[in-house]
Parts: sequence; structure tokens; C-alpha cells
Amino acid sequence: MIQNPLFYTLFGHPVHHSLSPTIHSLFAKQFNLNLNYTTTDTQPDSVRLALESFKAQGGLGANITLPLKEMVYKLCHKTTIAASHAQAVNTIYWDENDNLCGDNTDGVGFLNDLKIKYPEGIKHRKILILGAGGAAAGIIPPLLDEEADEIYIVNRAKERALGLAKKLNNKKLKVLSVAQLNGSNPAIAFDIIINATSASLLNELFPVPESIIKDKFVYDLVYNLKSPTCFVRWATQKGAKQAHDGLGMLIEQAAAAFYIWHHKKPDTQPIYSFLRQ
Ligand code: NDP
Repeated sequence: MIQNPLFYTLFGHPVHHSLSPTIHSLFAKQFNLNLNYTTTDTQPDSVRLALESFKAQGGLGANITLPLKEMVYKLCHKTTIAASHAQAVNTIYWDENDNLCGDNTDGVGFLNDLKIKYPEGIKHRKILILGAGGAAAGIIPPLLDEEADEIYIVNRAKERALGLAKKLNNKKLKVLSVAQLNGSNPAIAFDIIINATSASLLNELFPVPESIIKDKFVYDLVYNLKSPTCFVRWATQKGAKQAHDGLGMLIEQAAAAFYIWHHKKPDTQPIYSFLRQ
């Protein structure tokens, strides 16, 4: 018997370049699921209507990307702790009572990829996070859960970093200005340096002292399929032990969304190898 297609989509703007349909289709193949995962280009002012219309046409769930993550969070009837930490959702579905339920798998996606690439573990590590937007808000709580020793947040606009630290309210979180990060002598010895800004999308480098990079683990949340991001390239030139982009995180956050919808855990590494080819 042929299974009826399961309708899922990605809402955002723009979405035409997204890898999510490819990733979810490859996951679905692993379980013989008849999945129909599309993209729905949606402007912020029509998001509510777009969600209702998708559901009316049989849609079961969706991923949400920029610039709609915060907006859809506010439309949800039920949200998880991860979503409320980030005040943003990237995964939604409707429950049996038609409640719109929202989750945020960015944090767990990042952590799962980090565990693959940094098997030494997060416990007792000193971590530097560049950026204080939604992505930083999503990845910090799982790092705290893994018992990182200290997490320093540095953002171009320091007030935003202070606001994030206040919201997450954990004594292991510290905020530095860009000037403090670059002026501290000797430089703070971080184990892991994470670029959670969108600077690489603009081909811009966040100002970081070169001396903190050598032999360290570096991760840029932005990814490029064709070539390393400028931050990954720079960190590699400056002697980082490892420097990774966010493709693995993208696949892992998709896997976590897939699990929420289908209760099945896809094998992510073949997809990573396939997309990296
Ligand atoms: P937000 O818009 O919420 O935040 C953007 C952040 O980047 C802010 O901290 C902002 O600083 C900083 N920033 C932007 N431009 C620059 C620049 N030129 N120099 C220095 N800092 C800059 O975005 P998100 O937090 O949601 O996402 C951040 C990045 O993470 C995105 O590029 C996104 O592609 C990536 N991401 C990747 C995922 C993956 O699966 N790989 C998942 C989620 C996000 P300020 O406050 O000073 O403006």
C-alpha cells in the first residue's frame, strides 16, 4: 500500500536556496517515508495566514527560518523551554487539539554536532561566544547544561550581550566588550571559540585577537558549501586546531526536528558527507 504523503514545509524569506528540503528528503528515504517537504516564501506580514493556509491544505508541521522565528514563537500556543530561551522557534507542528506547538532545535543541533567534532566534551571548558542574537540564545543553554566552566559573550552591541546574559541568568555567563576582548593582556585562554554572528554572511570578520585562536577549537555557525567561511579560513590560517562551519549544525537541527515530527532518529553523517562532496 502506498502511504499518503506527509506534508511539511519551510517558512521564511528568502527560502529558495535552503538545503532543508534536500536534508529532510534524504532523512525520509532512510525510513521509507513518503515525505513532501517544500519551501514557502513568506513575508512577515503574511505569516499567520500562511500557517493557516498550509494547515488547511493538510500540512502537518514546518520549519521556520529568518526572519520569522521570533514572530512565529509569539503565535504558538505551546512552546518548549528551548524555544522560550531563544524567544524563537524553528520547528512547529499542530497537536491533536489543533494547538500550534513550537520548539527550537538549533541549540540541540549545535550541541550534537559539537559532540561529534569535539569529543573531548564541554565539561570544564572555557567558551567564547561571538554574537548575542537568536542563535547565541539558542546554543548557550545546552552548553551550560553540559557544565561548561565559563561562557564569555561578546557582541558588537554590548547591551544586547548584557541583555542575553541577564535573561539566561547563570553565574557562569560573563560579558565582555569587543575592546575588552581585544585588550586583555594576557589574552583569556578559551578552549572553544564560537562565531554565532552573521558576520561571515557579509564576508566580514568579527575582531578577535589572533593569539586566542592558536591550537583552539573554532566553530562558525554560518556555513558555505563551496568554500570555507571567512572566519573558518582566518582561524585556520591563525593555527586553530580545528575550524568548522555550521553545516553539521544545520543537519543536526534538522534531525532533531525530524525526530519531533516522525519519532525517528535519522543517521546524519551520510547526509553530511553527501552535502560536503
Ligand atoms: P540575529 O539577527 O538574531 O543576530 C545576529 C548577530 O550577528 C548579532 O549578534 C549581531 O550583532 C551580529 N552581527 C551581524 N552582523 C555583524 C557584523 N558585521 N559584525 C559583527 N557582528 C555582527 O541572527 P541569529 O542569531 O539568528 O543568527 C546568527 C547567524 O547564525 C546567522 O548568520 C545564521 O545563518 C546562523 N545560524 C546557523 C544555523 C545553522 O544551522 N548552521 C542555525 C541558526 C543560525 P549586533 O547585535 O551588534 O547587531
